[in-house]
Amino acid sequence: MFIPYGRQTISQKDIDAVCRVLKSDYLTQGDMTERFEAALAEYCRSQYAVLTNNATAALHLACLALGVSSEDIVWTTPISFVASANCALYCGASVDFVDIDPNTYNMSVSALKNKLIQAREANRLPKVVIPVHMTGQSCDMESIHKLSQEFKFSILEDASHAIGGRYKDQPIGSCLYSDIVVFSFHPVKIITTGEGGVALTNNKTLEKKIRLMRSHGITRNPELMTKLPDGPWYYQQLRLGYNYRMTDIQAALGFSQLSSVDIFVRRRHELAKRYDDALGSMALKLPLQTSDTYSSYHLYVIRLCKNDDISRQREIFEYLIDNGVGVNLHYIPIYKQPYYSKFKLNQKAFVESEAYYKSAISLPIYPQLREEQQDIVIDLIKKALKH
Ligand SMILES: *Cc1c(COP(=O)(O)O)cnc(C)c1O
Repeated sequence: MFIPYGRQTISQKDIDAVCRVLKSDYLTQGDMTERFEAALAEYCRSQYAVLTNNATAALHLACLALGVSSEDIVWTTPISFVASANCALYCGASVDFVDIDPNTYNMSVSALKNKLIQAREANRLPKVVIPVHMTGQSCDMESIHKLSQEFKFSILEDASHAIGGRYKDQPIGSCLYSDIVVFSFHPVKIITTGEGGVALTNNKTLEKKIRLMRSHGITRNPELMTKLPDGPWYYQQLRLGYNYRMTDIQAALGFSQLSSVDIFVRRRHELAKRYDDALGSMALKLPLQTSDTYSSYHLYVIRLCKNDDISRQREIFEYLIDNGVGVNLHYIPIYKQPYYSKFKLNQKAFVESEAYYKSAISLPIYPQLREEQQDIVIDLIKKALKH
């Protein structure tokens, strides 16, 4: 039997919630989307939540709302999914990267600061910085927020991994240190809607822009129109928006899943602790947790330490796959993608990202991973390292 690196947990309650919508009048644009939005804002202690058909769309809308355009540059971390950077390219902007911290694999604050100082001299400061809460552990948001005030950039948190996590005793998603926070509800993430995402903010202007652009740039609000409505059917398109809406079928699933998020994350912590205990004596770098964060543990990433093991990364990876363990590598540094070669970035400058890519392996972790399955994974890692 194959053990994947991540998978969804769906209960009978979730199934019933979806079936209720299927039997109702509205499969989309009913009231489940609003209810899920309100529940997310309440859970995260943010003012507003706007659901989308996936997190990539939410990141795109967030960049648009923050005014990203072809004159701008946006910075993110290389160790993320390509969507963290693509969202800026959709707006015609260019992208650059800030190297990671060698212990948390999040954007390094010292690297960010150094790069900002250089960028100020070159008059090429970023419009938006997109920190990614890698594996579900928050970035050092207080420091990034301080830098944003000094260097005048907006902050968009790509928290795709991180619902259910906390930072300085606040839920990730509170938007206390950023303009907008995005979660993903893809099935491998913490809670799921099949496909889905959300943008959270405490800024009413940003919320309105995101909501308008989610639905074709169309409004039915007479106050926003350029003239009085022609009749009750009337709507106006004010900007070139998209159809990035979530269905009510998905929102019902998400609403139901949200009531389990804390249980899911607690279970992920139990599994992480079992890995920590079982692998602690091996020549491996295990996930470091900083004192002011509570991770959602979307991923459990180990790093090979010995040069001999690092040179065998692919062999170890393939050995685990061949034995039914669905390890993965999160992520290929984005600047290595052929599509990004046009930015002519100096790959050697990203020393920590390069080292990470050569040594990281993501192990299976998800609430329904059974302990005997986890023990199989642990035994195979021990065997692989002794080969
Ligand atoms: C999953 C993920 C995304 C994209 O999410 P979708 O909902 O699949 O669009 C973006 N950024 C990161 C860091 C992710 O892990």
